[in-house]
Amino acid sequence: MNRSTANRSETLVWPAAYSLAWLACAYIALELTQGEDGIAAVWPSSGIFVASLLHLSGKGRTAVTVGVGIASLVANYITGVSLLACFGYTVANLAEGWLVFYLMGGEKSRGKLLARPLNLIRFAASATVVSVFSAGVAGILSANFDLGFLISWATTVGLGMLIVAPFILFLVQSDDSRRRLLSMRTIWALMLVAVASLAAFGQAEVPLLFLPVLAISIATAALGLSGAALSLLVVAVIGSILTVYDLGPVSGFFELQGQKVLFLQVYFLGLLVSALPVALMLTQRQNDLVNLSRSNRFLTAAEKAAKVGHWRYAPAEGPVYLSPEARRMVGLDTQPHTVADIAELFQDSDRKRVSHILLQALATGVPFVFEARIAGPYGEIFDTECRGEVEWSEDPDKISIFGTMMDITDRANTMRELADARAHAERKAEEHRALAETDHLTGIANRRKILADLERTVLDARGTGEKIALAIVDVDHFKSVNDRFGHEAGDRTLQQIAQILSDRFDEIGEVGRLGGEEFLVVSRGAGASELDQRCTALHDFLCTYAWPVEGLSEVTLSIGIAELAEGASDVTLLNAADKALYFAKRGGRNRSVVFEGNLVRV
Ligand code: GH3
Ligand code: MG
Ligand code: MG
Repeated sequence: MNRSTANRSETLVWPAAYSLAWLACAYIALELTQGEDGIAAVWPSSGIFVASLLHLSGKGRTAVTVGVGIASLVANYITGVSLLACFGYTVANLAEGWLVFYLMGGEKSRGKLLARPLNLIRFAASATVVSVFSAGVAGILSANFDLGFLISWATTVGLGMLIVAPFILFLVQSDDSRRRLLSMRTIWALMLVAVASLAAFGQAEVPLLFLPVLAISIATAALGLSGAALSLLVVAVIGSILTVYDLGPVSGFFELQGQKVLFLQVYFLGLLVSALPVALMLTQRQNDLVNLSRSNRFLTAAEKAAKVGHWRYAPAEGPVYLSPEARRMVGLDTQPHTVADIAELFQDSDRKRVSHILLQALATGVPFVFEARIAGPYGEIFDTECRGEVEWSEDPDKISIFGTMMDITDRANTMRELADARAHAERKAEEHRALAETDHLTGIANRRKILADLERTVLDARGTGEKIALAIVDVDHFKSVNDRFGHEAGDRTLQQIAQILSDRFDEIGEVGRLGGEEFLVVSRGAGASELDQRCTALHDFLCTYAWPVEGLSEVTLSIGIAELAEGASDVTLLNAADKALYFAKRGGRNRSVVFEGNLVRV
C-alpha cells in the first residue's frame, strides 16, 4: 500500500466505515427498543466510536468524529427524538468516546488496548467512569433527570464500550487475530456460544441462562481474551434481539421494558465480570509462556554460539538435567543419575579425578573448576572446562550442583600445538647449540666450547682452592701420517685419538679438540701430577695400540701439562701448557712435560 492510499484509508475509508457501522447499530438499537422509555440493553455504537478513536490517527479521529456526529443526529432524528435531545445525545455520544480516549492516555494508547491485560483493566475503569459522565451530560442536555433513564443510559453505554470496542480492535489491529478468527477452533467455540444463547433466550419454559456462562468459559479457555470478547458479543446480540421480540425468559419474568433491560444489563455485566479475569489471566500466562520460550531459545542459541552447556545435579531429584548444548557434547540420549554416571561421561583417564572433585564439592559446598576430556557421541574428543557452584543445605536432600561445561577443544588444540612447536623449537635449538659446540670430525667439544669451559672452570675455581690442570696434546709428525696414508686415514686416526683421550680423561675432566691435530684436556680436582701420571700411562698404552689404518704401526703424542696457580687466568694457564708442550717437542716428542714456574720437569 503506498502512502496516499494509506492516507486515504486513514482519513476516509475507515472513518466512513466506522460512521456507517455506528449509524446501523444505533438505528437497529433504537428501532428495536421503540416505545415506553426507548432504551436498549446494550448501545454498541459507543463501543464502535471508542474503538475508532483508539484505532485511527489524528486526521482519522477528526473525520470519524464528524461522521459519527452526523450519524448520531440522523439516527436519533429519524427514530423520532426531539431536535434538542438529538443534539444533547450527540454531544454525549462524542464526548464519551473522546473522554475514554484521553483517560487511556491519548495518542500513546493507540493500538495498545489488547497488548497487555493491564491496558484492558484501565479501559474497563475508564469506560465505567465515562458511562456515568455520559449519562449526566445526556440528562442535562436533553433535560431528562429521571434516575431510571440515567442509570439505564450509563449501563447501556458502558456495556457497549466494554463488549464491542475490544472486539473491533481485536479484528482491525492484527492480521494474526483475523486469521485465528477464521480457525475451526474459533468457529466451533462461537457456534457453541450461539447455540447456548439461543437455547437460553429463545424460550421461557426452562431456565437455561447458565448455559451461555458455561459456553463463554469454554470459549475463553480455548481462545483466551479474543474468545471472551467474541462470545460476549454473540451472547449480547442474540440475548438483546430475542428479548426485544419477547422470546426469552426475561420477557416471561418482567412486564416493563425498563425491568427487562436492567435484567439483561446485569446479566451481561455478570458475564463480563466472570469471563474477563480468567481471559486476562490466560493471556498473561500465554505471554509469560511466549517470553519464557523466547528466553529459552536465546539461551540455547547463546550456549551454542559460546559452546557452553549447563547441567544441574540434585541427588534427591532424579536424573541430571543437561541443557541442549551439554547434551550435544555428551550424546543426546545420555541420562546420568549419579556422580559415577557423570564421571562416566569423561575419558577413562579423567574419571577418577572428576568423581573425586564432584564428591568433594557435594561434601564441602566449595565451588570447583577443572578441565577434562569427553568422548562425544560420534567418537570425537572434546576438551572441556567444567565449572560448578553448589547449592548448599544442611539437609542432604536439598543439595545440588549447578555446573557449566565449555568446549575448549580449539583452545586446547592450540595450546597443545603451541607446546609441541615449543618443544620442537627447543629441541632444534639444542641440536644447533650442540652442533655449534661439537667438533664435526671427532664428535668431542670443539675449540670454542673447550676454551669457554676452561674460562668458566677457572672462574668457578677462583678462591675455592680446587685444583685445575691442563694438558695440550699434539700428535707427533702427523703430517707424515697424512702424507703416507692419505687424508682420510689421517681423519680416522684423529677420530681414534679423540676417542682414546675421552675414554681416559672424561672421569677427571673434559676433552676438546683445539684444532688440527691438537687436543686439550681440562681436569677439575686433579692436579698436574695426577694428569702427568695419566699421560704417562697413555704413552705406554699407545706403544702397543693397534691403529685401524693398515701399515700405521705407531702414533705418538707430545703433551704439555700445567696447573693453575693461585690468581692466574685461563690464558696464562694455556700459555704455560703450550710452553711445556714446546719443551716436550724439543725434548724428543712422545713425552709429557709439566710446567713448573720457569722450570720444566721432563
Ligand atoms: P709435529 O710433530 O711438529 O707436531 O709435526 P706435525 O706434522 O704433527 O705438525 P704440523 O703442524 O707441521 O702438521 C700438522 C698436520 O696435521 C698438517 C695437517 O695436514 C694435518 N691436519 C690438520 N688437521 C687435519 C685434519 O683435520 N685431518 C687430517 N687428516 N689432517 C689434518
Ligand atoms: Mg701441531
Ligand atoms: Mg703435530
